Amino acid sequence: MPELPEMEALARGLDRELRGRTVASVHPYQPSTFQGSVAPDEAVGATITGVARRGKLIIVGLGENLTLVVHLMQAGRLGLTSPPAGRPPRRACLGLRVDDATELRLRELSTTHRAWARLVRGPAGADPAVAALGPEAVDLDAGGWRAALTTPPGVLHTALRQGRRVAGVGRCYASEIMWAARLPPLARTATLPDDAWDRLAAAAPRVLGDAVERAGRTITTDLPDKQGRVTAVHGHFGDPCLRCGTPLSRVAFRGYELVYCAPCQTGGREYADRRMSRLLR
Ligand SMILES: [Zn+2]
Repeated sequence: MPELPEMEALARGLDRELRGRTVASVHPYQPSTFQGSVAPDEAVGATITGVARRGKLIIVGLGENLTLVVHLMQAGRLGLTSPPAGRPPRRACLGLRVDDATELRLRELSTTHRAWARLVRGPAGADPAVAALGPEAVDLDAGGWRAALTTPPGVLHTALRQGRRVAGVGRCYASEIMWAARLPPLARTATLPDDAWDRLAAAAPRVLGDAVERAGRTITTDLPDKQGRVTAVHGHFGDPCLRCGTPLSRVAFRGYELVYCAPCQTGGREYADRRMSRLLR
């Protein structure tokens, strides 16, 4: 699933291409993808005032009083492409055409159709999903991180991925940030010492900023089906830790694995899977 860096790079690329263009037509290829009470045709004729990111959401400003909010969920992909000549293309969910040659298209790589798009009247904050988001992960100082992750207390790696606490961080970058900050993934946030919050506040903007820069080199106006993501720990179970050389550990959890370095992050302790599931129920 694309997270803050990939979505930020995509928003910047789309903003460069689409700002100032006029919406010629809207095509809800997959009707269930288009949600909300504002009809798609209301966007026709609107000038695109900008494309931005909030959390993992893409926000498209349309004229003075409309906003398109897009959430890709697990399998959605968004990018610029050519309008179809005939039948709607496979996997296409929504098309926003700006001229005969250019369509902003939302696709979905799975058949479950969980990605969604909504038109709302007013700014992005009028959308309930946007309004529910916590502060941006790149904007927080140590006190801000502590407040976000301890009210209410939780398990660090779970709390990091809850958008209502902090927006934009998912499985991949939660692992990357915890490794960079040398934090134990299963720690209770209420018990973290002061210096842990300082390390978290220092590591998060560095990890995410580097990733935005890297994503910007490969993602411009289309989110690829497979992302060539460079990570330190995520997806690298068994590889040597880039800091201490110890083979990285993992715990399995609900169909994915959390990878960490035991000497760097947990004082050398290996987590057992059953403890993981008990803690995170
Ligand atoms: Zn290490």
